[in-house]
Amino acid sequence: MKDKREFEIFVNTLEKEGELGKVSLAKILTSEKTDSLYSAADRVRKKFVGDGVHLRGLIEFSSYCGNNCFYCGLRAANSKVKRYRMQPDEIIQCAAHAVKFGLKTVVLQSGEDKSFGVNELCKIVNRIKSMDVAVTLSIGELSRNEYSLLKNAGADRYLLRIETSNKKLYEKLHPGMSHENRLRCLYNLKELGYETGTGCLIGLPGQTIEMLAEDLLLFKKLGVDMIGIGPFIPCRGTPLEYEKGGNVETVLKMMALARLLMRDINMPATTALSIKDSDGHRKGLCCGANVVMPNMGRTEYKKLYKIYPGKGEGLINSKNHVDDIKSKIISLGRKIGQGYGNRNKI
Ligand code: SAH
Repeated sequence: MKDKREFEIFVNTLEKEGELGKVSLAKILTSEKTDSLYSAADRVRKKFVGDGVHLRGLIEFSSYCGNNCFYCGLRAANSKVKRYRMQPDEIIQCAAHAVKFGLKTVVLQSGEDKSFGVNELCKIVNRIKSMDVAVTLSIGELSRNEYSLLKNAGADRYLLRIETSNKKLYEKLHPGMSHENRLRCLYNLKELGYETGTGCLIGLPGQTIEMLAEDLLLFKKLGVDMIGIGPFIPCRGTPLEYEKGGNVETVLKMMALARLLMRDINMPATTALSIKDSDGHRKGLCCGANVVMPNMGRTEYKKLYKIYPGKGEGLINSKNHVDDIKSKIISLGRKIGQGYGNRNKI
């Protein structure tokens, strides 16, 4: 942006009012300047959600998937990946392990594995709820009735990224899926009383800065409680294998803008960000994030849940994964979030 002052005016408006139009958001996203944006997001994060960083224990319980999302290594057509499906008792054991580490939220994530019936999932949710934790689901598109049964079984939150707000791009990258249905799911989840999370991938081929600005405005319009933003990381065995992938600074700018536009949301420093950049967790936490999701699954499965390369390696697999994350948080002068970490509960 040639006018430095214009950038500062936009950032000030955002910090004071929590609102900004598409053209101005796009200008911020194209600017090379970032310092004042990041520090404004950090101030707003501190003011609205405090210094606590909530830890959510992630359990990736099945890598089977019936969809064919172009970017995802678990797409049905990828025959190069070995699939696994955890038994209900194994899932419960992992949840109990997370609870032992003091985590107050368990996130159950999987591909769209239709062999898990909704009744079976309800039983699992119910058993985990008896451990006195919040339960988040991230298992894709279901009917309203299925979402309702899972809510009644005790599920508290649901993560379903829109991936991109652009209908054309969405449908190009998700064969057999529709943008309307993705939105229908998000509206159903909200109506049913879930704390609802969405988000997008950064750096998808064909994605423009204007589309990213529109993503932010859509999140705000939907009034979601959680936002996950991460870089697209090209993955072997997918149609996007040889693409470039997302840029870390763009992810951080999008996170900072999300925090400024939706002040009291919960927002993770994503695993994808920490894989793309070994300092990603710290950077994310300094640009508006207040959540980290340690992977509490079993080592052999973490390696197989290959939505993108690098998963299940390095830090994620360290014996002291949770402790490492906790020390990182403390070293930033932040605290470990207390309680369930619902929205609006500092
Ligand atoms: N089946 C569930 C969970 C999907 S995995 C669902 O449809 O919601 C969770 C997230 O991982 C996805 O929403 C997507 O944004 C992200 N993801 C998938 N492939 C990726 C890749 N190659 N790079 C970065 N993130 C990816």
